[in-house]
Amino acid sequence: MKRIVIAGFQHETNTFGATLATMSDFEMADSWPGLLRGAEVISGTKGSNLPLAGFVHEARKDGSVELIPLVWCSAEPSAHVADEAFESITGMILEGVRNAGKIDGIYLDLHGAMVSESHEDGEGELLRRLRNLVGPNIPISVSLDLHANLTREMVYLASCITIFRTYPHLDMAETGARAFQTLQHLMSGGRLFKAYRQAPFLIPLQAQYTGAAPFQSLYDKVASVGPAPQCWAELAAGFPAADIHDAGPSILAYADNQKDADAIVGSLFTDLLSAESEFDCSLLSSQEAVEKAKTIAAKSDKPVIIADVQDNPGAGGTSDTTGLLRALVEGGAEGVILGMLCDPEVASQAHASGGGSIIEGALGGKSGSAPNPFSGRLQVERLSDGRFSFTGEMYAGSVAETGPTALLRVLDDSSDVRVVVSSHRCQCLDQAIFTHIGINPAAQQIVTVKSTVHFRADFEPISAAVLNAHSPGLFPCRLGQVPYRNLRAGVRVEPLGMLSDRR
Ligand SMILES: [Zn+2]
Repeated sequence: MKRIVIAGFQHETNTFGATLATMSDFEMADSWPGLLRGAEVISGTKGSNLPLAGFVHEARKDGSVELIPLVWCSAEPSAHVADEAFESITGMILEGVRNAGKIDGIYLDLHGAMVSESHEDGEGELLRRLRNLVGPNIPISVSLDLHANLTREMVYLASCITIFRTYPHLDMAETGARAFQTLQHLMSGGRLFKAYRQAPFLIPLQAQYTGAAPFQSLYDKVASVGPAPQCWAELAAGFPAADIHDAGPSILAYADNQKDADAIVGSLFTDLLSAESEFDCSLLSSQEAVEKAKTIAAKSDKPVIIADVQDNPGAGGTSDTTGLLRALVEGGAEGVILGMLCDPEVASQAHASGGGSIIEGALGGKSGSAPNPFSGRLQVERLSDGRFSFTGEMYAGSVAETGPTALLRVLDDSSDVRVVVSSHRCQCLDQAIFTHIGINPAAQQIVTVKSTVHFRADFEPISAAVLNAHSPGLFPCRLGQVPYRNLRAGVRVEPLGMLSDRR
């Protein structure tokens, strides 16, 4: 039996975020499990849509390999990974490989946009240390998130890389399964030649939706390259909130000869460049979004979804900004539910005072750079311990841990707005965030979600319309306004935008 070491270490780093990802953030369960060691790596992810779960499922189906699970962890996106966390987790992986005896391959479930306090390319640094340990001949297979900022080191040091092809990420487990097939190909003596190219412009996340043009057809073309595992292509859309040299989209291909790999990348690169003008980066102001939502909702029996795209905790937002909440209340919006606003103080106050009580205070707006809480009287309608199962396709099989959570109604004569307040940050990408606390989102007029694109998988089917709104937040979606300092020269900061070095 061939022996494969498996491990996962995921972080998407928003270098503009508010707080570091510390060891306790990796240990804590959130939308995904807390830190898992040894056999728990497999049992604790089983049945989820995680890449590692897909890898394990595929390996078990194959039946010819022995898996040696070391560690799996992730932390909610935030600012840089603290050095102590990076060193501890990297140390666990290296020590595990050192103690594993003779191995034939390594699989790593990584994100691809990790920046630690000391290393701009976190995954590249992990791979460099691992390569130093095992030498050039042990195949290392890596699966990455669609939002990976792929670097030359990662491509060079990993033997093969697979990347999600959907945003919302519905194919995470499938990408892990592909990582097994490609690793098996290499362990069986297959040879792969690589080609890689970075695009000369960044793409904001609201324009990276793969259910619409131009990414829909670009990813269709990526998927049509083959036959895998002898030959395949990947496209990383990039994570523009990481102000690093290698931020942005890139294309990667593998083939059994260099000429084919080069040709595949060349062709996909031309397609990506020709699509530059098709990316829809437009955003409404909070006030515009509220007015438009009211107009559409008045004529529909389905809710209008407003996405608070710049306060997405799944991309390093604080999930407690109040711009949209204020616009909804001041705009006299009715039948509104908003989720999730992270405010542990208010959630705890609501739990202490109990259902039906009225609390006065400052809600949200506490953790960003400019404090801006919403003040008002809030009625506690329902309480929850924040532990519930996700029901949407993307996170089905995973359990949420949002800490003490409360449904609060803003007491105001001219609007009707309710807010789900959590104690831990959790992206509003699943209807269970509302249904677990007794709210049917389909029965509302306006549903406001702190998410950029992931919410579309579970909420778009029940909606009359989706509106993207910009309100101040720590996850930048208007890239032309971002004070980048570290991008490589010659990169446009958004499709058809200015060059990074001319601003
Ligand atoms: Zn992602």
